[in-house]
Amino acid sequence: MTRKEALANARKILIKVGSAVLTGEDGLDLQIIEQLVDDISALRERGFQVVLVSSGAIASGKHRLGIPGKLKSIPQKQAAAAVGQGRLMRVYSNAFGKHGLFVGQVLLTMSDITDRKRFLNIRNTLFTLLEWGVITIINENDTVAVDEIKFGDNDHLAAMVANIVGAHLVVNLTSTDGLYDRNPATSKKAKLIPLVTEFTPEIEAAATDEVSTVGLGGMKSKVLAAKKVTAFGIPYIVAPGRRPGVLRDIMAGKEIGTLFLPMADHLKSRKYWIAFTLRARGHLVIDAGAKEALVGEGKSLLPSGVLHVEGDFTIGDPVSCVDEAGATIAKGLVNYSAEEIRKIMGLKTAKIEQVLGYKDYDEIIHRDNLAVMIQPPVKP
Ligand code: GLU
Repeated sequence: MTRKEALANARKILIKVGSAVLTGEDGLDLQIIEQLVDDISALRERGFQVVLVSSGAIASGKHRLGIPGKLKSIPQKQAAAAVGQGRLMRVYSNAFGKHGLFVGQVLLTMSDITDRKRFLNIRNTLFTLLEWGVITIINENDTVAVDEIKFGDNDHLAAMVANIVGAHLVVNLTSTDGLYDRNPATSKKAKLIPLVTEFTPEIEAAATDEVSTVGLGGMKSKVLAAKKVTAFGIPYIVAPGRRPGVLRDIMAGKEIGTLFLPMADHLKSRKYWIAFTLRARGHLVIDAGAKEALVGEGKSLLPSGVLHVEGDFTIGDPVSCVDEAGATIAKGLVNYSAEEIRKIMGLKTAKIEQVLGYKDYDEIIHRDNLAVMIQPPVKP
């Protein structure tokens, strides 16, 4: 697949813009925001649908309040976000207003989407906003989010939202030109990688942990987000957010930033939800036969393939399946509790009833509730 082919049918675009793009020495960089809004509005005029995930609340609030240095505590960051989020929205509202466009604010935490019902509600709201032609601006609900319910950074949030709205393309606007083969801040030899077709160890190693002083996610979190998004069959571009007309040029097919091509065999929405939004409550170590059945043959997980149960979980909980070397193979919703699986692991399906006194399911995890996280090996 070429860059042109990947972008050919992209009509619904999720744009993520980082704090480092939006803020300068004096807080929000109004000129850059105007430039970005002009670029987005021009896309809208041409019939593209746009959803925006915007950072910048904490950085803006901090500047607004005149707080020097780094914010020290979590409550300080949350308080700064409370001040900055309102300002951020006012700036966007004014800028989009000049183009006759309305903005809507949606603030989310991870716990809003791990529940299937709330996930669907949010989806309905976002689709209604799209239908109404409103520019939806999404951020993490920083003022209430604590670690346990956090997306962590907006790269992750944007990846989740891309799935919820069924975006055709994600553009992550950053303060760098894209993904380099090594850290450009420390190596002059660093070269931009224009196209990523596979998440090789080299690609993973190219993404360093370093973050700018204002944003949260470094290149590593962008590559992680790209992995999730491309697994859902959506192309992902990391591009320089301050470049004038960056969106127009990307949609014109120009070679800008790094394009991660969608994975061919992408997960369906429900499986994606299982794989990436649910936190595993435990794990099952599975044997080589079961691994082959899950990955190579598209089968369900049966008791006979389970070697070991880790954690305490109940029916319907998300659990990851790991191989004997400890690599995560799949994630799924279990039909039996940890305690029950400990009793029936290693046994033939026919023995379940004999041991438990009942048998509601043949499978530990049914195929429909199982998301395989690795690609099958290429057949010779
Ligand atoms: N939600 C944070 C903010 O708006 C930014 C998170 C991030 O940089 O990833 O300030």
